[in-house]
Amino acid sequence: MRDRLLDDSTARLRQDAAAELRASEPAAGGGVIESWDLSVGVDGPGTRFVVFTCGCPLRCLYCHNPETWRMRDGRRVTVDEVMSEVDRYRRFISVAGGGVTVSGGEPLLQPRFTGELLRRCHDSGLHTALDTSGFLGDRASDALLADTDLVLLDIKSWNPQGYRRLTGASLEPTLRFARRLADLGRPVWVRFVLVPGHTDAEENVDGLARFVATLGNVERVDVLPFHRMAAGKYARLGLAFPLADVRPPDRALLERVHAQFAAHGVTSV
Ligand code: SF4
Repeated sequence: MRDRLLDDSTARLRQDAAAELRASEPAAGGGVIESWDLSVGVDGPGTRFVVFTCGCPLRCLYCHNPETWRMRDGRRVTVDEVMSEVDRYRRFISVAGGGVTVSGGEPLLQPRFTGELLRRCHDSGLHTALDTSGFLGDRASDALLADTDLVLLDIKSWNPQGYRRLTGASLEPTLRFARRLADLGRPVWVRFVLVPGHTDAEENVDGLARFVATLGNVERVDVLPFHRMAAGKYARLGLAFPLADVRPPDRALLERVHAQFAAHGVTSV
């Protein structure tokens, strides 16, 4: 019965996700964000000023930021406003070898805003990173990518059916984006969330490792162990957390996965 209720609620969320694809971006010079924050070590090198944009066309079963799913729930801001905030931390993040990361939600749902933010940061000498699922990679212009020093590309599963089960969407656009980034020679960190029972199958990890090894521009793969810390957020939003019964991966599983990447000559952390 619980599974049935979860399936129904996930199906509803995914219809909601399709609506995000039709949401229109605010006029030039503005965007919709959930928040900004400082982070260390997880959103690119050094200390990062991270902008969380609002709106996402996926509904990943393990998403930690369900509050960023809908553009209409976010706060309208101008690029100037965000840049003034960046300027308050500029010295601190530069000294700490960091920069600015545009994350979400899905930043490429607002390619004009994201592009302008990346350009302004890049032109002012800050290191820039774009955290994306790659599903809307076709919306990123070459100019936007030229202003992006690092792409954090989430490849959530190698198996297309598994990817769809996990996200509600097709894997192919992400792979197409990964190949384009390789053709353009843009540096990439691939991010892979290890979820027991969903992404941990040996052939799934092996397929991803083999693909990554062919690209030539991937500096590392971040293997992110699934955890349930977002469960409280779901409860506050009145949503069921679909993976409430899934346990985080144990050390043996993590070691096996790192060894699989290493076997293909891929650095994983
Ligand atoms: S792509 Fe990111 S923000 Fe969107 S649902 Fe998945 S984990 Fe959440």
